[in-house]
Amino acid sequence: KAAMEKITHKRSLKMHSEQETWQESEEGQKMLKFRKSLPAYKEKDAILNAISNNQVIIISGETGCGKTTQVPQFILESEIDSVRGGMCNIICTQPRKISAISVSERVATERGEMLGETVGYKVRLEGVRGMDTRLLFCTTGILLRRLLIDKTLKGVTHVIVDEVHERGINEDFLLIVLKDLLPRRPELRLILMSATLDADFFSSYFSGAPLVHIPGFTYPVRTHFLENVLETTGYRLTPHNQLDDYGIEKSWKMNKQAPRKRKSQIASAVEDTIREANFNDYSPQTRESLSCWNPDCINFNLIENLLDYICQNGKPGAVLVFLTGWDDISALKEKLQGHRILGDTSRALLLTCHGSMASSEQRLIFDKAEDGVRKIVLATNIAETSITIDDVVFVIDCGKAKETSYDALNNTPCLLPSWISKVLAKQRRGRAGRVQPGECYHLYPKCVYDAFADYQLPEILRTPLQSLCLQIKSLKLGSISEFLSRALQAPESLAVQNAIEHLKVIGALDGNENLTPLGRYLTMLPMEPKLGKMLLLGSMLHCLDPILTIVAGLSVRDPFLSPLEKKDLAEAAKAQFSHDYSDHLALLRAYQGWKDAERDLNGYEYCWKNFLSAQSMKAIDSLRTEFYLLLKDTGLVDSNSAIYNTWSYDEHLVRAVICYGLYPGVCSVVPNEKSFSLKTMEDGQVLLHSNSVNARNFDIAFPWLVFNEKIKVNSIFLRDSTAVSDSVLLLFGGSIQKGDVDGHLKMRGGYLEFFMSPGLAKMYQSLRKEF
Ligand code: ADP
Ligand code: MG
Repeated sequence: KAAMEKITHKRSLKMHSEQETWQESEEGQKMLKFRKSLPAYKEKDAILNAISNNQVIIISGETGCGKTTQVPQFILESEIDSVRGGMCNIICTQPRKISAISVSERVATERGEMLGETVGYKVRLEGVRGMDTRLLFCTTGILLRRLLIDKTLKGVTHVIVDEVHERGINEDFLLIVLKDLLPRRPELRLILMSATLDADFFSSYFSGAPLVHIPGFTYPVRTHFLENVLETTGYRLTPHNQLDDYGIEKSWKMNKQAPRKRKSQIASAVEDTIREANFNDYSPQTRESLSCWNPDCINFNLIENLLDYICQNGKPGAVLVFLTGWDDISALKEKLQGHRILGDTSRALLLTCHGSMASSEQRLIFDKAEDGVRKIVLATNIAETSITIDDVVFVIDCGKAKETSYDALNNTPCLLPSWISKVLAKQRRGRAGRVQPGECYHLYPKCVYDAFADYQLPEILRTPLQSLCLQIKSLKLGSISEFLSRALQAPESLAVQNAIEHLKVIGALDGNENLTPLGRYLTMLPMEPKLGKMLLLGSMLHCLDPILTIVAGLSVRDPFLSPLEKKDLAEAAKAQFSHDYSDHLALLRAYQGWKDAERDLNGYEYCWKNFLSAQSMKAIDSLRTEFYLLLKDTGLVDSNSAIYNTWSYDEHLVRAVICYGLYPGVCSVVPNEKSFSLKTMEDGQVLLHSNSVNARNFDIAFPWLVFNEKIKVNSIFLRDSTAVSDSVLLLFGGSIQKGDVDGHLKMRGGYLEFFMSPGLAKMYQSLRKEF
């Protein structure tokens, strides 16, 4: 130990002197000057004092004031200077992979070092760190994984949990775990960092931990809502010039008597609001325009027009456009590239900023554009708080963000763009006032803003809890419901019970709520258990390739397009892929066709001819790689992928794997005189969504359909489905709990009894044991 300490001490002396040399250099001086200009720098002593006197502290301050880049450095520097001589080990968590990487690079640069010296990062599937790394930026998920093997975080001196205000499910979870750990690790310091001011809430969760607030300053930002945007730019919305996120033209005219589809509370409030609003202060053209505004889609034409307007009339400065995700960002970028000004690289620099961008691409967004070139950044909500682009003067806000929502009563999750809250709208607006007074254009009327909720719901209250429950179990944290009752805001007990029941049904937990071997594998795959199950079985049964496509397909939007005016043609195109009663196999075939066409550089033409979304196809392509790497990371597959694909073309096997993943989403097909009717155990009669290939069949040559999503409108509709046989359901349908089988048997009039021969039952049992 003494020898180790000596080495560490020597190293820290070296770090110390290297830092001094760097700080004396011209570059170093410039950097130090920049750092000192940040509001956080003025609070350096207050922050360090609070940390040395308290086990937990909370730091709040405006986005961009220097929390993420400076606070960890303050700690690092003071530790290197202290008598302990750099014996520290600081971990700073970020909610997203991309910010962990970008921040670590930035901090290393500020210290005049290479990444991997004192500063490093670790995210799933990649990382850079070395012997001397004392400050590690990582995703929240990585720290949770470390807790699996190292319950007390041995050797860690400081844990900094950043962006706690976002209230992500992982962060809320981590806080419960850390709260339990603190009494057992009295020297460990915990620092929470938050952008907004509800910091009191975190303070009371940690029994009155002190707050340090970093006062900030932003320039005023002029706010424009849709009505002003229309008045200023002179742009007219008509029922026909609105494109949805696929770039398909949509018509929409507000109809005062329009029947109400099932919508979230906020979406209905928005519709009610615009139905009742009067825009009497505005010109007749603007009023007519507003009545054509479609709240369900992001209007690319309007954004293009507004960007054109800013380029021609606005003062210098970058534009930040908030969209919902990779798919609409790339679709809009493609559209803008065809524009006279916006697509001209000598006049506009189009950049994107989203969770899955490469880090080389990411560096570009921080660079200033050349004189006369307008920098335009198309971003997701990642640019709200995690990434600060300094030269932004204009913000365009579509008012939406993609978030998972979950309705415990219907037990159905969905990932859809939904309206943001007032706090987030304000946060987006604030991004325009960092360097000088700015302008913010909200692409929705003021009355819609007034109908927004004040805050977003924390993720733990609006998403399915299956993965979280598995994590609680793998960290051996005891009873799931007892543990979750200690969260900042505990989820409803119905939601918790649903999740536990579901995990038992799919065989991830046993009757006593303990992890089964399958459950243990699923905890290693950060995705919905049904997707994880398919990947696991797909690789074991050597048909991973098609399963990767299907799993990726389940994670993106439906690639089969169906434009209103060309519905028949689109349906005919889809019919070519759909001859065997499966939406999943249809997608697989469409993707394989695209892949072949893409090899001959005909990808676009192929999509165009077949009414497929090229965006979705590309998204599937990159997700396939991501899922494969995650699977490799669990050690279940190695780089010899050929072996996992021996049986790729066996359609029956693929069907079986789909069934294994989607169970208990199963309904029975009951033939009647004309065609058939469908029943599930919980809901009775259900219907097929009109987009399903099975909706156009009048007979289904299989007794069961497995499906991945139920939507409740007036009746219950099943989205994508695949037909399966009795034996497949019996062998691959979840865990063989007597109750389920009995239930299904009853539904099929005892027909299945035939299959329960002792031999088959035994085979089934041994198959299950393998997991
Ligand atoms: P906070 O965490 O309080 O939101 P940050 O520490 O992320 O603030 O950022 C502080 C300042 O450092 C901001 O003004 C930002 O523009 C600048 N900055 C952060 N990352 C980079 C980077 N990669 N390149 C250039 N400047 C950056
Ligand atoms: Mg930050």
